[in-house]
Amino acid sequence: MSLANGRTYLAIPGPSVMPDRVLAAMQRPAPNIYAGALIDLTQGIFSDLRTLAGTRDHAAIYIANGHGAWEAANANLFSRGDNGLVAITGRFGQGWTAAATAMGIKAETLDFGLKSPADPNRIEAALRADKGGRIRAVMVTHVDTATSVRNDIPAIRAAIDAAGHPALLAVDAVASLGCDPMRMDAWGVDVLLAASQKGLMTPPGLAFLWFSEKARTATKGADLKTPYWDWEPRANPDEYYQHFCGTAPTHHLFALAEALKMLLHEEGLEAAWARHATLSRAVWAAFDAWGQGGDIALNVPDPAARGASVTAARIGGGGAGRLRQWCEAEAGVTLGIGLGMAEPESPAYGDFLRVAHMGHVNAHMTLGVLAVMEAGMRALGVPHGPGALDAAAEVVARG
Ligand SMILES: *Cc1c(COP(=O)(O)O)cnc(C)c1O
Repeated sequence: MSLANGRTYLAIPGPSVMPDRVLAAMQRPAPNIYAGALIDLTQGIFSDLRTLAGTRDHAAIYIANGHGAWEAANANLFSRGDNGLVAITGRFGQGWTAAATAMGIKAETLDFGLKSPADPNRIEAALRADKGGRIRAVMVTHVDTATSVRNDIPAIRAAIDAAGHPALLAVDAVASLGCDPMRMDAWGVDVLLAASQKGLMTPPGLAFLWFSEKARTATKGADLKTPYWDWEPRANPDEYYQHFCGTAPTHHLFALAEALKMLLHEEGLEAAWARHATLSRAVWAAFDAWGQGGDIALNVPDPAARGASVTAARIGGGGAGRLRQWCEAEAGVTLGIGLGMAEPESPAYGDFLRVAHMGHVNAHMTLGVLAVMEAGMRALGVPHGPGALDAAAEVVARG
């Protein structure tokens, strides 16, 4: 007998659960890409994308994933041989650095480890040391999906300003947009990156860049821009709506429009942020209780430095790996693997997992995942403290 039959739940941090309405929006024949519904819809998408990021400036859509968004940002920000400063708080900051280096950018890194956010003082010091003002951009991940560390973007902006440095601020919000608050203009973010398949509840395949007018002007001559990645035609409504810089991502656009309607026009962005905040606190409360009686701990000690879309945690003695397998085989819930915490070959690899709570997720889904994890710990004999489900239910009850 398996208790996994029934509707399964993919609780990994991307791709996330896609609403039936989003999937249904894709069930249509190929549309005309030169006139009609797709053109009208695209206009609305651009307006919604600006609302989503909190900017009045520019948005660009690419057919790509998050890795593509990194290259898009790099190509528009830098010329070959330019300097960038990357604040690393996990695997995704390393990934962005690797892409930049491969493109010929001198990516200087500040590594803040795997458990705490970037220290704005160290960023300020690095910028003050750059007397010639060679660093063109500070690059930081809003929420690093591997560690679930959330960086304080306004504090990093303040550090750049305190150093009196002209560097632009570029932020990877692939894992956080739609889940954690993002106010691009108010926070002084110059370039923001995202992708469709996490908080935005849409199949993987669309990448987004938002850029300030300041960034647009400052990077006019950047020589890494190639025709595909150049943000200029993509942000120009007359060009993009007419030509889409190649064939439009037709069905993804229909899906995205439906997801943005749900997120911005039905639930409301602030309510979605509040939902993610509550569900994440329920997950943290459960782990805190489990940790009272076992080798179990959240990865990020400071709650203020945790993202609201994904939780990375440790269950020692290989418990995380065994629990992931049990949850999938016996209960129909797939949890995320630990990423960048230990090498896949090492025994410690089985000590880490991640629970996603991003996008189309509600209380019954998150409480269900926690209850399944509790059952799995009991079935496997993983030592754990009592009261996790009570604690999570209390968080949900208080809202
Ligand atoms: C998922 C993710 C990426 C990479 O996205 P892919 O679509 O997997 O290429 C980049 N940055 C962050 C913060 C992510 O969460």
